[in-house]
Amino acid sequence: MERTLSIIKPDAVRKNVIGEIISRFEKNGLKIAAMKKIWMTKQEAKGFYIVHKDKPFYDSLTDFMSEGPIVVMVLEGENAIAKNREIMGATNPANAAPGTIRKDFAENIERNAVHGSDSPETAAFEIKYFFSELEIF
Ligand code: UDP
Repeated sequence: MERTLSIIKPDAVRKNVIGEIISRFEKNGLKIAAMKKIWMTKQEAKGFYIVHKDKPFYDSLTDFMSEGPIVVMVLEGENAIAKNREIMGATNPANAAPGTIRKDFAENIERNAVHGSDSPETAAFEIKYFFSELEIF
């Protein structure tokens, strides 16, 4: 069993597709081990994406991630990290495979509907960023 952090980003929350996205995780055998809706400050978004602090898109990305509410979840299952990445699709929706969340809901490479941890190390950091052990079941 593995855990990963998933975020439904502000663009997808505004589109009212929270349920459709969560249903794709469940249909693919991932369990929602924790979930909440929050609205990050710019500072909180900067802390979450600290690995990208030197990238040209850091400022714009953290503006976007703090522009409205998001849904943060811990997904649990076998190979949860890779499985979630597969269900999400490529970062740029133009390259995302048919049937993936980003193909169906993303607007562009920045406003791309969902986030998913990309390794066990980032999953551990990202889950801790939003949840205490007492909130994960
Ligand atoms: N991003 C962006 N421009 C880029 C690359 C990424 O705005 O050229 C944003 C996008 O929202 C992406 C996030 O930064 O989801 C994190 O980038 P990463 O390369 O880690 O992609 P992901 O792991 O989310 O697919």
